[in-house]
Amino acid sequence: MKSWSETLEPSDFTSTYKISRLLHEERTEYQHILLFENAVMGRVLALDGVVQTTEKDEFCYHEMIVHVPILAHGKARRVLIIGGGDGGAAEEVFKHRSVESATLVEIDRTVIELSKRYLGAISGQAFEDPRLDLVIADGCQFVAESDARFDVIIVDAPDPIGPGAALFSIEFYRGCKRCLAPGGVLVTQNGVPFIQVTELRDSMTALASLFADARSYVTHVPAYVGGPMALGWASDKTKLWRTPLETLARRFENSAIDTRYYTPAVHQASFALPRYVQELVDHAQD
Ligand code: SAM
Repeated sequence: MKSWSETLEPSDFTSTYKISRLLHEERTEYQHILLFENAVMGRVLALDGVVQTTEKDEFCYHEMIVHVPILAHGKARRVLIIGGGDGGAAEEVFKHRSVESATLVEIDRTVIELSKRYLGAISGQAFEDPRLDLVIADGCQFVAESDARFDVIIVDAPDPIGPGAALFSIEFYRGCKRCLAPGGVLVTQNGVPFIQVTELRDSMTALASLFADARSYVTHVPAYVGGPMALGWASDKTKLWRTPLETLARRFENSAIDTRYYTPAVHQASFALPRYVQELVDHAQD
């Protein structure tokens, strides 16, 4: 049985998967796409050698990148997802009956097509939801040009390599800010800070220069090796990140959403960062 090792940057520390079944491999104009089955993690999607999501642990990531901003916001009607071609974030967004529309901007149509074909356990009915507005485009260009405004923007980006690099630029964050409706919040995928030190620090530096409140919260995703994963948070509503537990609990109760990772207490606790992560965020604000 073949095995496959992730080529994370820096690549001196990585994870290896035994491939029990190869599902698809292709190089598109944007990236190398690999889909395979692993006995522990189920179906795995990798782009340019980096694990994007797995069937077994995707809930640890998608629940936290979606429910934290939407439940903190409280009245999110229009959501923008940049990247997210596996459909996992969209699937969680559509669990909120209060959400009227979700625009998903994905640069590589092939990722959508392969996710529909092989990753139904992750995307559910997201791609068939009538509230979905699917846009095949570069997210950086979209936020620079769109006249639409959004209550929550979710940057479900890959690592800052290949087409994903643009989604970590200040130009992109500036575009996200212009597309946020008043009181809106932007959340970003910001890697595993124990390994990808500069990713979080650089994003926080950029976000702190644009928003009144820029910080990080964490989740724990087994496939993203190396410790807690950092998610960036930016809003001009400075108290949104610390929405009271009672409020979160009431909103979560009313949403009637079943989760396996997210709870209001986990939401609140996720903003308490391990010191080495907090120091990266603080350093960025210097
Ligand atoms: N959850 C994953 C993670 O944490 O790395 C990300 C998953 S999702 C598959 C990332 C998606 O972003 C991919 O489908 C990729 O094609 C898309 N993407 C990369 N660069 C992009 C860009 N500039 N604009 C829009 N989508 C982009």
